[in-house]
Amino acid sequence: MTRFHIFLISCLLAAASLVAAQSSNPSGPEVSDRARAIHDSAIVVDTHADTPQRFLDEGFDIGSTDPNDIGHLTLDKARRGNLGAEFFSIWVDPGTNQGHFAQHTFDLIDSVYEQAARHPDRMMMAFSVADIERAHREHKLAALMGIEGGHSIENDMHLLRDYYRLGVRYMTLSWSNTNEWADSSGDINDPKVQHHDGLTDFGKQVVLEMNRLGMMVDISHVADKTFWDVIAVTKAPVIASHSSARALVNAPRNMTDDMLRAVGRNGGVVQVNFFSGFDDQSYWDAAKAQEKERDAAIQKYVDSLKAQGKPVNYIEINRLQREWMARIPRPPFKVLIDHIDHIAKVAGADHVGLGSDFDGVSGATPQGMDSAADLPRITQALLDRGYSAGDIKKILGANLLRVFGQVETVSREMQTR
Ligand SMILES: [Zn+2]
Repeated sequence: MTRFHIFLISCLLAAASLVAAQSSNPSGPEVSDRARAIHDSAIVVDTHADTPQRFLDEGFDIGSTDPNDIGHLTLDKARRGNLGAEFFSIWVDPGTNQGHFAQHTFDLIDSVYEQAARHPDRMMMAFSVADIERAHREHKLAALMGIEGGHSIENDMHLLRDYYRLGVRYMTLSWSNTNEWADSSGDINDPKVQHHDGLTDFGKQVVLEMNRLGMMVDISHVADKTFWDVIAVTKAPVIASHSSARALVNAPRNMTDDMLRAVGRNGGVVQVNFFSGFDDQSYWDAAKAQEKERDAAIQKYVDSLKAQGKPVNYIEINRLQREWMARIPRPPFKVLIDHIDHIAKVAGADHVGLGSDFDGVSGATPQGMDSAADLPRITQALLDRGYSAGDIKKILGANLLRVFGQVETVSREMQTR
């Protein structure tokens, strides 16, 4: 053995131990210069953040630099993670907003515009692929909006069109509640809920009208049969704005391999959810096991407010939920990458992306994913698994931009026909 051989072997051993250390680090890998360069050259798109609840209920400012803030998303955190575009979720809690879904939808839409108006130097409203690319060139966060839950349209096609005109560019057909035209995975086994065996005829019209308008059809949250009805009826590629893989975690909200393959054939994209419960089976099981006790504790709090004639305080409910979630150990960073990897293998690397669910999961994300500032770790972890720079950039955002562009094209075609 020559000195050179010994040198070579010791180099290999050092490299191997580095890889082992990185893959065994529960908080994910340290970000190398190469990963950082790839990450920073991409347009990074995240399709789901619930931060508008904070804007509206807490008066939260996305420009906050409070070091004690536990939120996932601020302009600083977005900048550190090179987040280029965020789809802010317009989610109307169907329980606490009975009778005024549209009003609350408008209030949340307004809250996003108000944030963009407050920070014109660092953030801009965006309504198209071209807008996202312009924001990227101007080093601003592109702010888009997606409605989470078809109940927001109050069974009214006029409202759907109004939301489009206000800039909403996707709609999740249902949230966890079945509405009057789309079954949800959240209550599909609840016999007290009236179901429709998927989409009703009106629901199919909603999908086609979204195609015509150029609003992406989002199948996250829907029941399996609703998903298959959408695939049969849509004229444009679909998205799952924040969904993970059921083959890895058996949650009804996650997508089966058949569904993943169908999105691949449809040309759409599945944006992986960062919620620990959807990405790690033992977390899901633990969350399920505490569900009854947790719901009872929150209900007790709501009832006590009602008894005092006080309005329900969203911030306090969120604090309670966080407390319960914090009792379950956080899974390692790698579980998130496992879902990206699985979907890339089953549906194809052209059909997977990022749908964090930031600020919507009671703080329950895997270790090492504490905010948008940690997004570059995903790039490093994918590099470590052998992904090419080209595929990584697709996953980080180019896939979503491709689908959004195709949805725009289908819309133009349907409107000129
Ligand atoms: Zn959701």
